[in-house]
Amino acid sequence: MSENNLPVTPLLPGDELAHFVAAYFDRKHLYQNIIQKYGSPLWILESSTLKQNAQKFTAAFNQFFPETSFYFAMKSNNHPEVSATLLESGFGLDVSSGVELTSALALGAKDIIFSGPGKTNEELALAISHADRTTILLDSLGELERLKTLTSESDSTTCVRVGIRLTTNPNGLWRKFGIVPELLITFWNEVKDLPNIRFKGLQFHSSWNLTPDRQVEFICLLGKILNRMPARFNESIEFIDIGGGYWPEEGEWLQFAGTKEGLAQKESGNNQGAADNHYRIPSTPIEIFAKTLYRAMDAHIFPQVNCRICFEPGRWICHSAMHIFFTAVDKKDHDLVITDAGTNAIGWERFEIDYFPILNLSQSSLTEKACDIFGSLCTPHDVWGYSYFGKDIKVGDLLMIPCQGSYTYSLGQNFIKPLPLVVKI
Ligand SMILES: *Cc1c(COP(=O)(O)O)cnc(C)c1O
Repeated sequence: MSENNLPVTPLLPGDELAHFVAAYFDRKHLYQNIIQKYGSPLWILESSTLKQNAQKFTAAFNQFFPETSFYFAMKSNNHPEVSATLLESGFGLDVSSGVELTSALALGAKDIIFSGPGKTNEELALAISHADRTTILLDSLGELERLKTLTSESDSTTCVRVGIRLTTNPNGLWRKFGIVPELLITFWNEVKDLPNIRFKGLQFHSSWNLTPDRQVEFICLLGKILNRMPARFNESIEFIDIGGGYWPEEGEWLQFAGTKEGLAQKESGNNQGAADNHYRIPSTPIEIFAKTLYRAMDAHIFPQVNCRICFEPGRWICHSAMHIFFTAVDKKDHDLVITDAGTNAIGWERFEIDYFPILNLSQSSLTEKACDIFGSLCTPHDVWGYSYFGKDIKVGDLLMIPCQGSYTYSLGQNFIKPLPLVVKI
């Protein structure tokens, strides 16, 4: 505990960071050649990494669970090549809007789940017209009501597969998702005898899971809920979708400002911090997630409902498969560099709170030097980082931030600068 009784966020060990950085420096010639061909700034998507991640993820869960399906959460990286590569790896797609559904259909996906709150009638109609490839994960009783009307208007032979999402936390912002477990019986009574709608399963999802604790807690609760449901309901469940939210094993890397201590200092108006350090909230290897979640399901769910288990990972799959590259265009002081890309490319002020190393591929070195590295947008919040790995830095140097594949590319903004191209290798 620190002086003000906050748990102290652990430091990111320097040797682990150097090891991580070295692996990308080892591949610098490959990256430099691509930039030479396509120019800077650029995204590079490594499809082999994506495939390895998909393989590792499915292998971890398939080691325990007898029947599984995996769906990539398209919102985490909506580049069509990412989804296309994952389809090749045997994944289905988890879409959250009509736009994403259209994109999944165009990619030829045969197994799509459509989840998310507030689906419009147009979006539902699109799903109905592709009911052979789409399962709708309903978000409310109102949505079921609208789907009922829409299916009664469509071809009488249409059969739409649906599931229902359960709210994992009835308080705060997450209450917007799904129905509270108390409403499940009402939902069942509404859905069970509909001619064109087939109830197939349940979904829940929590995000930012650095450990499986929250998922396990909900699985226990779900066990109690199922215990109170009619036998016909439990018998009709063909899948339980336990969502995504798995945090990559390397943990959450933070700038001081992103730690609890840093946030507390900011609130108290004190701006001095351990700004030179990097921090890491540890995460859990995927094999441990798999084992722990299996044990929880085996204890609380499988005795009542033995069904296929679905997974919806986004971040874990795509995060390490895409990197961003940009070039120093101006050096305004020994410790102040402006680059040709702005953070509109990643869509948010990520690096004010998150830490990720900036690698100077033109002058590689495993020493990290302090230097403010900004983008070229007309806003001071356009920050890539406050340091770089390299011998030095000068105008024309090629810089890289590895592992920017999740919740960056999809969030890219049409703001001041054009968005960088994506090259798949
Ligand atoms: C965003 C989302 C996911 C993916 O979450 P990650 O943290 O990227 O794994 C999965 N399922 C649903 C319903 C989501 O909204």
